[in-house]
Amino acid sequence: MAVVPRVVVIGAGFGGLEVARTLKGVPVEVTLVDRHNFFTFQPLLYQVATAGLNAADVSHVVRGLFHGQRNVAFRQAEVTGVDWAARLVHLEGHADLPFDHLVVAGGATVTHFGTPGAADHGFALYTLEDAVTLRNHLVERFERADADPTAVDRGGLTFVVVGGGPTGVETAGALAELFAMVFRKDYPALDVSQARVVLVEMQDHLLGPFAPSSQRHAFDTLRSRGVEVRLGAQVASVSAEAVTFADGEVLPCQTLIWAAGVQANPLATALGVAQERAGRITVGADLQIPDRPGGWAIGDIAAAHDRHGEVLPQLAPVAMQAGRHVGRQIARLLEGRGTEAFRYRDKGTMATIGRRAAVAELPGRIRLRGAPAWLAWLGLHVVLLVGKRNRASVLLNWAWNYLTWDRGPRLILRPRTPDHRFSGPQDPDTGR
Ligand SMILES: Cc1cc2nc3c(=O)[nH]c(=O)nc-3n(C[C@H](O)[C@H](O)[C@H](O)COP(=O)(O)OP(=O)(O)OC[C@H]3O[C@@H](n4cnc5c(N)ncnc54)[C@H](O)[C@@H]3O)c2cc1C
Repeated sequence: MAVVPRVVVIGAGFGGLEVARTLKGVPVEVTLVDRHNFFTFQPLLYQVATAGLNAADVSHVVRGLFHGQRNVAFRQAEVTGVDWAARLVHLEGHADLPFDHLVVAGGATVTHFGTPGAADHGFALYTLEDAVTLRNHLVERFERADADPTAVDRGGLTFVVVGGGPTGVETAGALAELFAMVFRKDYPALDVSQARVVLVEMQDHLLGPFAPSSQRHAFDTLRSRGVEVRLGAQVASVSAEAVTFADGEVLPCQTLIWAAGVQANPLATALGVAQERAGRITVGADLQIPDRPGGWAIGDIAAAHDRHGEVLPQLAPVAMQAGRHVGRQIARLLEGRGTEAFRYRDKGTMATIGRRAAVAELPGRIRLRGAPAWLAWLGLHVVLLVGKRNRASVLLNWAWNYLTWDRGPRLILRPRTPDHRFSGPQDPDTGR
């Protein structure tokens, strides 16, 4: 082991940041590696996509978070693999990084369950680029329909959201609100009531992990706000112009948002370690990777279990608590002490449906819905946001949106150089 042990953390997300912060004052050199130079607050990406918040409100430059912590360095790079025997992390275009401890916190990505066309023509919501790409596309649909109303017959204003979990519910609710409150005024010459938001869920209920009363509340609220909720429905294939359902129905549609499936970041496979369902890395009770001394995995990429043997959900609090746990365990090992088992403290789950509408299930069987749940949701997200400036900006934006029934950043932003082109499906009208 080196004189000062080297801790490399792959991923500056919810989990990775907590590892680095917990190691403040511990005699180690921490290197955080991320393909982006910023942290992304994924739970609010849908608000960037639906023009409720600016991209910068839900992200934070990683370097800016560690000005006061001298034992943390940052490297912007793509991790491509790990040589466990030589204890080196391979980076694309950079020298290898040696490590004594390696924390894998690379998060998750979308899975389309092999649905034909979904990867090519569907929009995902995992990164800030995804959110801005989707926002560009949404606003462009309205610009095009305003210029040529026949675009509506070709599905120009039909927006299909696949997946009735929290992300699907939140996105569908936010789209309906954006169209009814803001686009109705932005496009006075267009009959915006023709815009359709269709939420598709395979199960016979929305919000799988929630209680039936919360599920019904979400269903009723979405329907009352104009969202067409299709339960027990399945998307069979997707093209640039239409969605085909398993029952054979073909719905003209130029926007499909895929909020249905999640799998571990493919990096998990590249690391050559044992994996479980959806590719998540097998970890021991203390979150170490079996047979990889000094190797740890946390957050969405790992399959940590609770004391009943159930795999923990892919949620921000799980990643954050696991990050703090691993930071503490590394410090314990350096002090010559043994490791402890990870115990997740469940603080409840929430999903917002729109203005003054949400469901929240808190410990002690406390169930909130409507305005109280919405206020709880707003408060929690402001607290969890990274950076004081972001908190202030988000609060200001939300207050502005609430009081004026308006939205700010409905900009169409496309970088000009091919090198910096946003990823995303081809525009069916222009072929771009
Ligand atoms: C749309 C959406 C909404 C969500 N809403 C909620 C919610 O309301 N409440 C909740 O609790 N959770 C929510 N989640 C889940 C929550 O965001 C995740 O559980 C959490 O982000 C997991 O943290 P993590 O540290 O494991 O991964 P992440 O926070 O995703 O961080 C992973 C980091 O690894 C980096 N990375 C990945 N691969 C590489 C590589 N090869 N090289 C370098 N860097 C790499 C990524 O750039 C990223 O910064 C939501 C997720 C999404 C996508």
